[in-house]
Amino acid sequence: MKKLIHFWKLDLFLALLHKKITTVIVLLSFIAISIGFFGTNHLINSLIDNQALSRAELSSKILRESWFTYSQNVVNRLKDQNIKVTPQYHNIPNAIPNPATYLIELGETLSSQITGTELQLYSEYPFPYRKDNGGPQDSFEEEALQHLKINPAQPFFRRDKVKDFVLFRYAEGVTMQSSCVDCHNSYPTSPKKDWKVGDLRGVIEVNQSINDVMIFAEDGMKVIQLNIAIIVFLLFISIISVITYLRNYNDILHQEVRKKTESLRQLAVIDGLTQLANRRQFDHTLELEWYRLQKIGENLSLLICDIDFFKQYNDTYGHQAGDDCLKLVAQIIADGAKRNGDLAARYGGEEFTLILPGTDAADAAIVAARIIRNVRRLQIVHEKSDIDSYVTLSVGVASLIPNKTCQPQKLIKIADDALYEAKKQGRSRFVIG
Ligand code: GH3
Ligand code: MG
Ligand code: MG
Repeated sequence: MKKLIHFWKLDLFLALLHKKITTVIVLLSFIAISIGFFGTNHLINSLIDNQALSRAELSSKILRESWFTYSQNVVNRLKDQNIKVTPQYHNIPNAIPNPATYLIELGETLSSQITGTELQLYSEYPFPYRKDNGGPQDSFEEEALQHLKINPAQPFFRRDKVKDFVLFRYAEGVTMQSSCVDCHNSYPTSPKKDWKVGDLRGVIEVNQSINDVMIFAEDGMKVIQLNIAIIVFLLFISIISVITYLRNYNDILHQEVRKKTESLRQLAVIDGLTQLANRRQFDHTLELEWYRLQKIGENLSLLICDIDFFKQYNDTYGHQAGDDCLKLVAQIIADGAKRNGDLAARYGGEEFTLILPGTDAADAAIVAARIIRNVRRLQIVHEKSDIDSYVTLSVGVASLIPNKTCQPQKLIKIADDALYEAKKQGRSRFVIG
C-alpha cells in the first residue's frame, strides 16, 4: 500500500514535471547561472585573498627578521659600549634607535616607497613618546590586538573598506624574547615593567590595497560570467528545441495510434469484403435492441437474406465474380437500413441480415420485398440459376415484441425458418415467420 502511494506520488510528480517542463528548465538554467556566477566570484576572491596573504606574510617576515637581527646583532652588542639606545637618537650623539623605533621607521620608509602598501607597528603598551599613535587606531587593530593576545602565533587578517579603498589587512604578533625582557623591564620610560617571555610585545601590520587587482578581476569575471550565461542560454535553447521536437513527434505518434486504434476498432466490427457490419456487431446490436424494445414494448423485426443458387454462381463465374456479386447485393441490403437504429450486416457466406427496431411484420415485409426487387433489378446474369436468368434473393422475415420469456435467438430461429420456407416455396421471395 505504501509502495502504491509512493508510485502514485511519483506519477503525479512526473506528470507535473512534464506539464511544466519549460518552467522547470528556466528555473534550472537560472540556478546553473547563479552557481556559475557564485563559483567564479568565490574563486576569484579566494585567489585575490590568497595572493594578498602570501605577500603580507612575506612582508611581515622581513620586518620581524629585521627587528630581531637589529635587536640581537646591533643593539645587544653596542649597549655596553657607551652607546645610547633611545627613540630620540636623532639629536643625541652616540645614540642609536631602539629596536621598536628602528622597525617603525623602517616600516614608514618602505610604506612611502611601495605604492599601495603600508607597514606599521603598534602595541598595547606604546612608549610615552608614541602615546598618541603607538596603540591601535581603529576597530581592525583593536580586534587584531585582542585576537593576538589570546593566540599570538595565529595571524589575524581580513578585507576592510577604508574610505574608497578595499584593503587586505594582516596583523601578526611579536612576542617578548628572553634577550629583551630585562631591558624592557628596566628602561626608565618603559610603559610596562612586568614583561614576561611570550607576552605580546607588539603587532606588525601589513595593509595592501587590492582595489586595482579587484577592478582587473571584476573585468575578467564579467567575461567569464558572460560566457557562462551564453553557454547556459544555448543549452536552454537546445533542450527546449529537443523537447518541442519530441512533443510534436509524440503528438504525431498519438494521432497515428488513434488512427490505427480506430481502424482496428472498425476492423473488429466491419466485414472486410462488403463493408457491412460483421456477425459480431450483428449479435451485439440484436441483443441491445432486444432488451431496449423489451422495455418499451415495441416490435423488433429481423430479415435474413440468402442469395439463391450462389454456389452455382461461384462455380460458373469464379470466386472473384462471386465476391463482386456479394458486394453489389450488400449495397442493396445496406440501402434497406433506412432508419436510425436499422442495421445491415453480413451474417456469413452469402447470407445477410437486417435488424429493424420499432418495425412491425407488415413494414418489415415491405422492406423485404423492396430488397428482393432491387437485387433482381441489378440484373446480375446467372445462367445456372434454376429459377431466373439473374441473381435473386430469398428472405425470411421475423417480427415480435421481445419479452422476458425468450431470447434474441428466438427471432433468429423464426427468420431462419421463414428463409427455409422461402427457399422451399421456390426462392426469390420472402416468407414471414
Ligand atoms: P441456396 O439457393 O439454397 O441458398 O443455394 P446456394 O448455392 O446459394 O447455397 P449453398 O449454401 O449451397 O452455397 C453457398 C455458397 O456461397 C458456397 C460458397 O462458395 C459461397 N460463398 C460463401 N462465402 C463466399 C464468399 O465470401 N465469396 C464467394 N465468392 N463465395 C462465397
Ligand atoms: Mg446459404
Ligand atoms: Mg444461398
